[in-house]
Amino acid sequence: MNFFNFAYLKLTAFYVLIVIIISVGFSITLYRISSGEINRGLLRQNVVIRNSPMLGENQSSSSLDQILQDQLEESNTRLRDNLIYFNLLVLILSSVASFFLAKRTMQPIEKAMEVQNRFTADASHELRTPLTAMRSEIEVSLRDNKLALPQAKKLLRSNLEEIAKLETLSASLLKLAKSQGETKQSLSEVSLEDIVIESYEKVVVLATKKEIKFDTKLLDLKIMGDKLSLIELFVILLENAIKYSSKKSKIIITMNKEKQGALHSLWATVKIKDHGIGIKALDLPLIFNRFYRADTSRSKEKIDGYGLGLSIAKQIIELHGGRIEVISRPGKGSEFTVKFPV
Ligand code: ADP
Repeated sequence: MNFFNFAYLKLTAFYVLIVIIISVGFSITLYRISSGEINRGLLRQNVVIRNSPMLGENQSSSSLDQILQDQLEESNTRLRDNLIYFNLLVLILSSVASFFLAKRTMQPIEKAMEVQNRFTADASHELRTPLTAMRSEIEVSLRDNKLALPQAKKLLRSNLEEIAKLETLSASLLKLAKSQGETKQSLSEVSLEDIVIESYEKVVVLATKKEIKFDTKLLDLKIMGDKLSLIELFVILLENAIKYSSKKSKIIITMNKEKQGALHSLWATVKIKDHGIGIKALDLPLIFNRFYRADTSRSKEKIDGYGLGLSIAKQIIELHGGRIEVISRPGKGSEFTVKFPV
């Protein structure tokens, strides 16, 4: 029996037990009160009959007592039987209702467990890939009796690369797990402009390598946020813009203030537009899923990544009550817009 089936049964039994305790307690009290009332009623009736001039000569007081006793027992038995039937009915109905209630209670937990399990499976699969590559390279080299120093060095360099990938992956997994537990309480007033500048400084080396230029239009905007998480968010978006752009292209960062919705509430927006490979319409709804990578980033030039960046980004945005929108055309480029309530 799996964990959830056992939990359903346990919860059902628990609900039924509560209902039955209440129902039996109620029935016992009712039985006591009602049989007392019936007793008193019959006694009163007996007194009236005894004093009645209609009472026949041959009806002695002992036969009256016998009739009273019989009536009393019959009423009490009928009352007790009815209460037993009532409790049996409650038991059946509450069992059915409790089973459905238990299912409803457990469903969100079961779903969350499912997501967690899938995540663990995906994560261990991704962790295994570089480990397997390292293992087979080492095994092949160990079998080679004439392994020369340059070859050994090449192997070590390749292993080092795989280790670096593993480090990036475990750091991303840790970030994802950490930002899941964060709450809004840790937010304070921060300058969105400073955050964008700091994030830019972190990725500028990467951009210089590909001779990518930036065009920026910044604004002094304040929002409620967690500075480190927000820097992480913009580093992810900027790194992607660089990663998926060709050499010597241009990335445009634009900040704005917008009124939106029926209430005309104020939003601070940051737009990051690149002129890179773009994203197919089919991939667009999926890129925020954990471990999702569009085919273009897996094949061709093989761009490094694990498909975790955007899911971390989305979590950070949700923590800030913000939104993210993407417009993209394959071959033309992508435009990610992040919005935060001011
Ligand atoms: P990673 O970049 O590590 O693969 P992400 O979660 O950051 O993971 O992105 C998921 C996928 O979305 C990428 O694999 C890529 O296919 C696509 N993507 C994200 N940003 C861009 C971009 N600026 N241009 C083109 N494709 C992008």
